[in-house]
Amino acid sequence: MAPVKILIVDDRPENLLALEAALADTDYELVRALSGFEALEKAGQDDFALILLDVQMPVMDGFETAARIRSETRARYTPIIFVTAIDRTETYEQKGYRSGAVDYLFKPINTEILRAKVAVFVELYLQKHEIQRQAERIHARDEFLSIASHELKTPITPLGLQMESFIELFKNGEIDRVPRERLIRMLETSYSQVDRLSRLINDLLDVSRMTSKTLKLERNRTNLAKLVEDVVAGYGQEIQRSGCALTLSLERDVEGDCDKFRIEQVLINLLINATKYGAGKPIEIIVRKRPPVAQLIVKDHGIGISKEDQQRIFDRFERAVSARHFGGLGLGLYIANQIVKLHGGSIVVESTPGQGAEFSVQLPMN
Ligand code: ADP
Repeated sequence: MAPVKILIVDDRPENLLALEAALADTDYELVRALSGFEALEKAGQDDFALILLDVQMPVMDGFETAARIRSETRARYTPIIFVTAIDRTETYEQKGYRSGAVDYLFKPINTEILRAKVAVFVELYLQKHEIQRQAERIHARDEFLSIASHELKTPITPLGLQMESFIELFKNGEIDRVPRERLIRMLETSYSQVDRLSRLINDLLDVSRMTSKTLKLERNRTNLAKLVEDVVAGYGQEIQRSGCALTLSLERDVEGDCDKFRIEQVLINLLINATKYGAGKPIEIIVRKRPPVAQLIVKDHGIGISKEDQQRIFDRFERAVSARHFGGLGLGLYIANQIVKLHGGSIVVESTPGQGAEFSVQLPMN
């Protein structure tokens, strides 16, 4: 975590130095301001846990500075401790509290008291931040639950409808009159919904295994060209439906010690993305040797990804498209990247928006 910042304000550098010396061995980052105006400027730029503000300053004194910090800057709720040499008198103190001070320190400064007071306000500040972070986490979880339920529901609705129409066809004795081809198509469509559902659920399970670091690989000598052909055979329908023509360019003798099932999963995720974001344009899968690594490349000519997004899409739940246009949980690339990393490899993306994307997996060959 970044160090907690404290703004110290005094027109005399030697006083600032004394404050810095008193707080020297702490983790706080002390930011100096040599006038009320500079304090206003700094308070507007940064997030401070506390402001230590000298009262007797020329031009704009501490009271005015405090009032203006309160009314004009983002530090509206930042606690202010007045530092003053003047003896305590009740009216004077009241004026300070009215202008927004929460406490006083009297010069000459007692280091112990200063440190104790500062520590209390820093602690309050950290607690406030922790509460905020928890609220954000709860919000992120709620949002994820709503997206996930929507995603899980999407394949279930057509599946339910198809089941109903089968039941009707059977009940009415009409099933024999439906052409065999059409029946097969209906069943295939239903199956692809089931497949989509099970992929979503497996993705969720995998993510929890990955965050708890319990995902284990089962490595075997694996021929990558063969692996690509198996995956392509299994996803023929999905590729066809996307309208993207697929070309394979496979060196036959590329092998790696990898978990075949997991590398298949990587390829499936990349291939499904290529069909989803590929705008119906051609897709190419390449397997080749580039010692010491084997490369598995999936290249499309679709919507592409901007430079700013290219890094973050590999993180959990990160997406670079609007949920209105494309469904998805934002987990496919995260999972693919984690699997490849477990193999000691890496995934890189090259893309120009509007012209397509190329995802290249590098796997150590032995
Ligand atoms: P999902 O596709 O479910 O959103 P992924 O983790 O697979 O999740 O992808 C994350 C994001 O990366 C996508 O939302 C999309 O913005 C972008 N993306 C992934 N693959 C491609 C691709 N081939 N072309 C363009 N954008 C892509």
